Amino acid sequence: MKNRADNKTEPVLYVIVPCYNEEQVLPVTSEMFLGELQQLIEKKKISDQSRIMYVNDGSGDNTWNIIKELSKKDAHFIGISQSRNRGHQNALLAGLMEAKDLCDVTITIDCDGQDSVEAMEEMIDAWREGCEVVYGVRNARSTDSFFKRATAQCFYRLVNAIGGNVIYNHADYRLMSSRVLEEFANFGEVNLFLRGLIPLVGFESRIVYYERHERLAGRSHYSFGKMLGLAFDGITSLSIRPMRIISLMGVLISFVSFLGVIWILIGALRGNTIAGWASMTIILCMLGGIQILCIGVIGEYIGKIYLETKHRPRYIISERTYDKNGQ
Ligand code: UDP
Ligand code: MG
Repeated sequence: MKNRADNKTEPVLYVIVPCYNEEQVLPVTSEMFLGELQQLIEKKKISDQSRIMYVNDGSGDNTWNIIKELSKKDAHFIGISQSRNRGHQNALLAGLMEAKDLCDVTITIDCDGQDSVEAMEEMIDAWREGCEVVYGVRNARSTDSFFKRATAQCFYRLVNAIGGNVIYNHADYRLMSSRVLEEFANFGEVNLFLRGLIPLVGFESRIVYYERHERLAGRSHYSFGKMLGLAFDGITSLSIRPMRIISLMGVLISFVSFLGVIWILIGALRGNTIAGWASMTIILCMLGGIQILCIGVIGEYIGKIYLETKHRPRYIISERTYDKNGQ
């Protein structure tokens, strides 16, 4: 493991912050981010060229104007804007791909103040000791509702059981070096589930624990439906094991049916007539349900293939608060 602690020059850090309709929290959390960045600069842990890069994800409110104002007030703030709302994961990708050539190391963080900025120092320290990826893991979920906690736990278990590799209680608060991003740029998929994909890139990694707070203002954009969508995307973009389970189920059911056929034939030959309408109906309904579910799962994969084959751009940057080539 290479130790960077002796390097004379401090690394350039880009903090990537996706924002979607966040006019209420932006003024509050921008102070927090800047404060932390300045502390790290003073401690000589990062270069003064470090930046907080906001990614406006096609917000319908005043978010982009606030970002532009911030960038005029302090050179440490910069911003890019997506041409329309593409979702959290694509906004992160846009920021990461934009930043990878401009800096040595990135940290992605939500803009609502839920992830404590204090963990950044520990992340940078881990990077200096040679880690290329540092995962922020919340050490308690006391601020989440029981329902959110329970569903999240089920989700991590399920993903890992079917062959994905997701770190428990890690969301999208993480440090990645530009070296990792360079490699990650070759992962061309449009079905993005970053927390499942980054472990696939490999390299030396570490976990840093932090406290997760309540949202400072505004409200969450992840409704139950969106959360379910992300979970489903996560599972189907990381593993094809659900398809395998369906095939195995098919084999098992066929085998049982085959035994059933023999049993029925013997019964018919002996002249026993069967009066089992209720049991027949139950079995028919059940099988019908299972079949539709299986077709749905297969359809989900075909849908993913369809989207991947189009090779459409995963993000489109419409505006920047700076001149990318002149930076
Ligand atoms: N976000 C985004 N695009 C979206 C939805 C959300 O860029 O379409 C951003 C949002 O501004 C925030 C982060 O993603 O910085 C996480 O969203 P949120 O806090 O609503 O999710 P939660 O923390 O409740 O899971
Ligand atoms: Mg949040």
